[in-house]
Amino acid sequence: MSSVILRNLTKRYGTQTALDDVTLEIEHGQLVCLLGPSGCGKTTALRLVAGFMSPTAGEISLGDRVVSSPSRTLSPEQRNVSMVFQGYALWPHMTVAQNVAYGLEVRRVDRATIAKKVAAILQTTHLDGVADRYPAELSGGQQQRVSLARALIVEPETLLLDEPLSNLDTGLREEMRFEMRRLHDAYRYTSIYVTHDQGEAMTTADRIAVMNAGRIEQFGSPEEVYEEPRSEFVARFLGGSNILRGKAIDATHLEFAGAPIECHGVPLAAGRDAAVSIRQHHIALSNGVSRPASPNAVQATVVRNVFLGSTRDYVVEAKGGSQLRIIAAPEQSFAPGTSVWVTLPREHCRALVS
Ligand code: ATP
Repeated sequence: MSSVILRNLTKRYGTQTALDDVTLEIEHGQLVCLLGPSGCGKTTALRLVAGFMSPTAGEISLGDRVVSSPSRTLSPEQRNVSMVFQGYALWPHMTVAQNVAYGLEVRRVDRATIAKKVAAILQTTHLDGVADRYPAELSGGQQQRVSLARALIVEPETLLLDEPLSNLDTGLREEMRFEMRRLHDAYRYTSIYVTHDQGEAMTTADRIAVMNAGRIEQFGSPEEVYEEPRSEFVARFLGGSNILRGKAIDATHLEFAGAPIECHGVPLAAGRDAAVSIRQHHIALSNGVSRPASPNAVQATVVRNVFLGSTRDYVVEAKGGSQLRIIAAPEQSFAPGTSVWVTLPREHCRALVS
């Protein structure tokens, strides 16, 4: 069952289109990340779901209710959503326990139930030892967990998270990604999580919507969007891809650096310009003397070879001038200027939509 549905959702600010005809269905209990660069419309999408503003066109359903359309938008209080903000927005004059209890108090839940629920959620979020402290007496990670506990305690139909880890320093941020996932597994609220950080999205999400310029370029599991990018934007944004450009020979072959490179994915149109992606660590290097067994190989010259401890980071230039970045094993060293063979395994060559 879909819990959140965006149908042909568009939001314009004056002449600026922030969200452009976006359709997305999120299943009940799933955590979906909206992942994309600054300005691609992530926060706009989240604010529309929260009910802070109305769409220019299209509609949003939560469960079986239409909650937003250009003609009628329910207020945030009329939808059962909780939002976690970048800055946490904790009440400074309230203790951790009071901050967490607040949402139940305004809903007039009885005292005994509140005490029981607060105790349970503080335990799950590992805050039971700091229940009587004030926000200023907490670390960044603890403050972040308080804001999460406060959002979770009201048992929202939908949980909205706007870059929830962006205020934490790098080490803690990485640790908290696993914590976010653990808490999602514990509560299984339908969640929309906005981030521009690929690692955060890969760790936390059931599915990722990769956004670019107000549109969703691809929606799929972390494995799908990483291993099977549909577009050049997705292949580049999810890091570590080379883009091979050339003319398509037929539906599955690209002419690249003088060789026919076999690929899979979107069928190519013969005679047209086409692009194929391959990850840096999927390319194999071998010495330039003997041709590799694979027909998917081109000759190249080493431009750069940097030793990084556990890997070597190469740049090579293939015939025709295209440069490829390759992550190879550290023990395999070819000096700049050396002639090499570059093997591009077919199963890792993915044709992209043009
Ligand atoms: P970031 O990661 O930087 O927060 P984002 O992906 O969340 O970016 P949005 O904040 O949704 O992007 O903005 C999408 C586009 O709409 C941007 O080009 C932004 O400049 C524009 N925009 C956002 N809010 C407004 C506004 N109130 N008035 C005019 N333009 C706006």
